[in-house]
Amino acid sequence: MLRIAYVNGRYIEHRRAAVHVEDRGYQFADGVYEVIHLFRGRLIDEAAHLDRLDRSLGELDIAWPVSRPVLALAIRELVRRNRYATGLVYIQVTRGVAPRDHKFPGDTRAALVMTVRPIPEFPTEMREEGVKVITIDDLRWARCDIKSVALLPNVLGKQAAAAAEAYEAWMCDADGFVTEGTSSNAWIVTLYGTLVTRPTGPDILRGITRQAIIRIAGDMGLAVEERKFSREEALEAREAFLSNSSHFVTPVTSIDDTVIGNGKPGSLSAALHDRYAEFMESAPHALSRG
Ligand code: PLP
Repeated sequence: MLRIAYVNGRYIEHRRAAVHVEDRGYQFADGVYEVIHLFRGRLIDEAAHLDRLDRSLGELDIAWPVSRPVLALAIRELVRRNRYATGLVYIQVTRGVAPRDHKFPGDTRAALVMTVRPIPEFPTEMREEGVKVITIDDLRWARCDIKSVALLPNVLGKQAAAAAEAYEAWMCDADGFVTEGTSSNAWIVTLYGTLVTRPTGPDILRGITRQAIIRIAGDMGLAVEERKFSREEALEAREAFLSNSSHFVTPVTSIDDTVIGNGKPGSLSAALHDRYAEFMESAPHALSRG
């Protein structure tokens, strides 16, 4: 099947899609992005992702490349042309193309690139076996709440995890508290069954899945504490898990080779995953009218 990308208003065969060498995203990482899960034809939490895109753009003083309704239409057209039922929609906005100079260019229009890639529904092994996590120092800048394309510390962290045959690296601040994963928010469950995740602020990304889990946990009558937790507390936790738009709730069964709980995915992580799956089923179909 022909894979199609969107580049500044044009739908182009994916393998031919390209941006200019002086795109500021390429030269300065001067841009932001979003990833929306397309699940059985539904765009999961689309409005929350576009709200966060709006916030990221606003924080960097980048204008929307097209209006929000036009972007929503373009996402749907891209989904329609690619014909994947389940996948990830990647949306990237940069400050645009201009002669290389650090300060903002005067009258450059923001650049918009989008792709869709198919992914399997609910990777069973991750859910049934859980994943390994390592901890590393958080080397990032002081505005991790902006979903910037500047991901080098995250790339290095994920590579360190891969080298240790782990799935994710949890980054720790100078005081030994976990901030988040390189591409996910970090959670533990205490011995009393309370869900704990770091409060939002400039040191983590405001995960859309994180927000949905807080809502769902509330509906389930579970206690949630938004507070910092240390690596040591995580090692003692009853359960641990990660959240992101690609894989929703992923149980963590070991951290730095210390087994978490009984070494099996925890029951709360599994229950949250199931409730999240119900929430996804309730989203409207992307290509339905009205
Ligand atoms: N934290 C980081 C650093 C991320 O890159 C991501 C997602 O890619 C998340 C958290 C989870 O965010 P979301 O649930 O919106 O996908």
